[in-house]
Amino acid sequence: MVGNRKSNDKTRREVLQQLVGVAAAVPVTRLLPAPAQAETGANDLSLAEGQQTTPVAQLKAPATLEPVPWQPPYRSEPALPENAVALPILMYHRATVARVFEAQLAGMLAAGYRPLSLHSALKGLFGEEELPQMPIVLTFDDGWRIQYDAVFPVLKQYKVPATFFVMPGFHERQDGYMDWDQLAAIADFGMEVESHTLNHADLPRLAKTDWGAVLAEVVISKQLLEERLGKTVRYFDYPRGYQNEQIRQVVQAAGYEAAVAIGPGVHQSAEVPYALRRIRVEAWDLWWSVAHKLNWYGAGPNQLKRGRT
Ligand SMILES: [Zn+2]
Repeated sequence: MVGNRKSNDKTRREVLQQLVGVAAAVPVTRLLPAPAQAETGANDLSLAEGQQTTPVAQLKAPATLEPVPWQPPYRSEPALPENAVALPILMYHRATVARVFEAQLAGMLAAGYRPLSLHSALKGLFGEEELPQMPIVLTFDDGWRIQYDAVFPVLKQYKVPATFFVMPGFHERQDGYMDWDQLAAIADFGMEVESHTLNHADLPRLAKTDWGAVLAEVVISKQLLEERLGKTVRYFDYPRGYQNEQIRQVVQAAGYEAAVAIGPGVHQSAEVPYALRRIRVEAWDLWWSVAHKLNWYGAGPNQLKRGRT
C-alpha cells in the first residue's frame, strides 16, 4: 500500500512538473490581449528583439486586485427628495436559517406588514397602483444554495413573494450556489430572479480599466437569465452596493426598470429608481431586532400604522 501511494505521488509530481513546464514555456504575450495602443507605445506588450518572456509562474497579480474601500465615490446614492415614501426593502444574504427566517416572517406578518414583489412595490412607487398599507419587500442576494434549501420552502408555505438577485456566471459550476434547475424552480413558482451582474463585479472599479467588461456584466447577465429562465429580467442589484452616476446610466440604458443599492434606508422615490435603499437583515436577527431596524430608519410597525391612520 505504502509503495503504491509513493509511486502514485511520484507520478502526480511528474505530471505536475510537466504541466508547469508547459505553462512556463508559453510566452506571456500569447496569454494577454492584443495591445490596444501599440502605435503610441503606451501599452506596448510586444517583445523587443532578443527580450526574454516572463514565465507565467512569475507574473504578479495586478494592483487592481487591492481591496476597495467601502466609502464614496463607490456608493454614491443620489439624495432623496422630501416627498420620498416609506417602502422598506430588506436585504438578506447567505447567513439564513430556516427557523429564524420563519420567525422573522411570522413576526412581520403579525405586525401587519404586507410583503410585496419588487414589481408590485414599484408599481405602487411609480403611481401605477396604490401601495397597500405597511408594504415591505424581501430581497435575497447572491443566489446561495442555502436560500433554496432554507428560505424558499418558508416563502412557499407562507405564500410570500420575494426577489432573488443572482450572478449567472456563478451558477454553472460554483459550489454553494443554486444551480439552473433550482433557479428555474423558484422563478416558475413566481419568485423574481433578477441580475446581480455576471460575476459579482465591482462595476465602478471595472469601469476605470475595462468598459466592455462593465457592459458585459450588466447587459449579458440580463440576457442570460432571460434566455435560461424564459422571463423578463427587470431589476438590477449593484454588487456590494458599489455604483455611481455612470454605472446607474449603464443599468438604465441596458433596459432595467430599477436597481437596488445598499443605503441603508427605507425611504424611496420614483425620482430615484436606480438607487433603491435597503436595510440588511442577518440570520441572528430576531423579529424584534428587525422591527427595531425598521423603526430606526422610520418604517417601524407603529410608525407606519400611525402614518396611515
Ligand atoms: Zn452580492
